[in-house]
Amino acid sequence: MSFIVGIDGPAGSGKGTIAKRIANELGLINIDTGSTYRCVALEVLNQKVLLNDKKKIINIAKNIQIDIQNKQDGDIVFLNGKDVTKDIRLKEVTKIVSPVSSIKEVRLIMVELQRKFAQGKNIIMEGRDICTYVFPNADVKIYLDATLEQRAKRRYKENQEKNIKMTYKEVLENIKKRDENDKNKEIGSLKMAKDSILIDTTNLTIDEVVKKVIEIIKQAGEIK
Ligand code: C5P
Repeated sequence: MSFIVGIDGPAGSGKGTIAKRIANELGLINIDTGSTYRCVALEVLNQKVLLNDKKKIINIAKNIQIDIQNKQDGDIVFLNGKDVTKDIRLKEVTKIVSPVSSIKEVRLIMVELQRKFAQGKNIIMEGRDICTYVFPNADVKIYLDATLEQRAKRRYKENQEKNIKMTYKEVLENIKKRDENDKNKEIGSLKMAKDSILIDTTNLTIDEVVKKVIEIIKQAGEIK
């Protein structure tokens, strides 16, 4: 048996930061599903595969090995045994990850992996389709949102801290494009589950959002 908290929402809505904080505070395993799609995208770049070569991309998804290790100060992501935590955040990866993750077969393989990661554990899993598709029966379902401008501002600041070179305009355009693409996927598109609780984080601090989510989790019952 496991206890599952699903958090969905668009880029920059605060999912990553909030999930990490709550995982630490409540002793849950944090699974960032975006990093699984980012690993596939990184390998597509490594192998210089063209974006329209679906067959090769599906083959990459079938054959790569992805591991995520939870650490207090952030996750470490391994792709075929190599630490790619920084590489999967590169601008080049961010630009192609949405189309790569739109390929149905890639999604089916990644969803299977994400479900395996969760087996028998108490987890908080963040992504786009966790509450609608990966775990429609999650114990707690949250949808975080914020205005496009606020999300771009946050991501721009985060990129600066991580030394990722993208202008504010580039970040804004990228998020806008990803939002559109993510909302129009054949399976696992970005949308709020009917029974998810919406939190608009535009004018809230991280602490305020964490507090709200923890209250919701506690109301849902005991973590087994
Ligand atoms: O969350 P993050 O921005 O790292 O996700 C990168 C991309 O991976 C998203 O833009 C989306 O296209 C894809 N993704 C997805 N389903 C998820 C998580 C991420 O399609 N559950």
